[in-house]
Amino acid sequence: MNDCIFCKIAANQIPSTRVYEDEHTLAFSDLHPQAPVHILVIPKLHYAGIHEVPPQHADIYSQLLSVVATIVKEKNLIDKGYRLVVNFGEFAGQAVDHIHVHILGGRAMQWPPG
Ligand code: AMP
Ligand code: ZN
Repeated sequence: MNDCIFCKIAANQIPSTRVYEDEHTLAFSDLHPQAPVHILVIPKLHYAGIHEVPPQHADIYSQLLSVVATIVKEKNLIDKGYRLVVNFGEFAGQAVDHIHVHILGGRAMQWPPG
């Protein structure tokens, strides 16, 4: 097992507040929420960035967004809107090197994001 905290969350070795789980995908509340709703959606397979996913695992793309669509409806984020963020690398400030889609909602947000 590697040292990735999101792999450990997926393996139930670190606690999390799970919002959704299936065979391929997991969603849980962000530990330091930046909005009233702040949920992370991850593939169970470890890749640092979406560009690293090999063709044989390209299902990850649709699986992630399908779970996002389920959650934004469940959390009633459609009326007022929501933001999705996927950080990669130093310039984007990625802190955890395991693909994760941030779902942010419940408040007005600024653009550009800074
Ligand atoms: P990023 O900067 O895009 O890599 O975002 C990483 C996110 O993971 C941050 O929003 C953290 O608050 C969140 N995070 C880090 N550790 C945990 C954890 N153990 N459980 C839930 N969220 C976490
Ligand atoms: Zn990982």
